[in-house]
Amino acid sequence: MTTFDVDAMSHDEILHIGFDDTDSTRGRCTTHLAFKITGYLLNDSDTEFLDYPLLVRLNPNIPLKTRGNGAVCLRVKVRNHKKIIEDITQLIEEGSAIDEGANPGIMFLNGGLVPEAVKEFGRIAMFDILSKQKAEKIAKENCIPYFAFGNGQGLVGSLAAIGSLEDGDHTFEAIAYRKSKNYGTTRKIDVSRVIQYDKRTFPNTFNNYDQNHRRMLIAPHGPDPVFCGIRGESPEVVVSTLEWLQTEEILDGYMVFRSNQGTNMHLQNELKLSAIRVYMAGYVRGKVMRKPQIIQGGHVFFGIEDSDSFTCMAAVYEPTGLTSIASQMEIGDVIEIGCGVRKGTCNRPPTLNVEYIYILKLAQVYALSNPPCKYCTRKMKSEGKNKGFQCDRCGYKDSNAKKIPILQNRDIMTGLYVPTPKSHRHLTKPVHRYGMEKRSSCSNPGSKLIARWFFASS
Ligand SMILES: [Zn+2]
Repeated sequence: MTTFDVDAMSHDEILHIGFDDTDSTRGRCTTHLAFKITGYLLNDSDTEFLDYPLLVRLNPNIPLKTRGNGAVCLRVKVRNHKKIIEDITQLIEEGSAIDEGANPGIMFLNGGLVPEAVKEFGRIAMFDILSKQKAEKIAKENCIPYFAFGNGQGLVGSLAAIGSLEDGDHTFEAIAYRKSKNYGTTRKIDVSRVIQYDKRTFPNTFNNYDQNHRRMLIAPHGPDPVFCGIRGESPEVVVSTLEWLQTEEILDGYMVFRSNQGTNMHLQNELKLSAIRVYMAGYVRGKVMRKPQIIQGGHVFFGIEDSDSFTCMAAVYEPTGLTSIASQMEIGDVIEIGCGVRKGTCNRPPTLNVEYIYILKLAQVYALSNPPCKYCTRKMKSEGKNKGFQCDRCGYKDSNAKKIPILQNRDIMTGLYVPTPKSHRHLTKPVHRYGMEKRSSCSNPGSKLIARWFFASS
């Protein structure tokens, strides 16, 4: 399906190529297709990459069925637009798992500047649901040719990827790919080397190894083409770390992506409890208004009230490792939570699925204690409801005495609590990255890509 006459495009050489939803749940993967397409583009000596390929993770709360796993955008300077658009569209059609449920979309934005409407679309795609129709409307208004297969749901991610990561925080990932003959076999990675480089490169790489669960985090387990991915703060560190890993397996190659992984980009938007919708992501500031309850499975539920006095239940799931903190919160604690809005069930209204807890202010908590005897200071005993108190030791009675409030120690502290690395989503910001956020992209004119950002074995 095509909508625009490609010949009518302006002759500006810059092309932003966005695509999404090329993969099914088993096998294939959008980043692998990006690796193949990049290889194709680099074979043409006239192609110049203006930025690293972008790997854009969109709102993770949207059910897998209706989103891609990671949208990609390539920003390039090319000569023969028409041929490149035809070839890439063909590569995506052939390389996508369309008969297994993938719904690829591809968009080609011509020109150096990304229109504001496209950037806005990319911003909203981080925390809300956007329709394919809206993506098509914006594409048409901005003369962006697009192609879609299956139900075309991938158009949302395609446009969002083009509009993303122009500035602001970002990270890098060097993803290594396997030779197809090795798909499905065990990935042999020396765990001790992963532990070594994890320590050596800290804080410049992240999510390599989960100390608490003794689990390696760089390699997937499925049959997909990804061998491993090293995430970090610069293209240099992710490439040198990947090279240092010295894997036994002969790989197909690797590529560096610039990404919003590890940035909490989906949680930048403040949610008002009066206006939340299912699958939205963001943060809520408010007060704990219902005491945390631990339910079967160790999950913790509590109520939160925002500044407009709207309330909602929030859920902290056991695997996040945040339940111990959550269970010690008290009514009146002032907190901020990063969260996604989870669909309600027949016996539970929509809940906020907590991704981090920032305790801003602890409430003072009092326990009521029996009053001391005014003669011997011993704690008196209650004579029954509204009947006063009597001292066991000297027999003194006081019918007007009341219980007295005693300030309790709180066993938790204010501060930020983030999930354990094992339960991190792609977008989750690791605790050490707070304060390391980058302000601008490296895609400003004149900045060069490192020499070793792409490698493909022949
Ligand atoms: Zn007494």
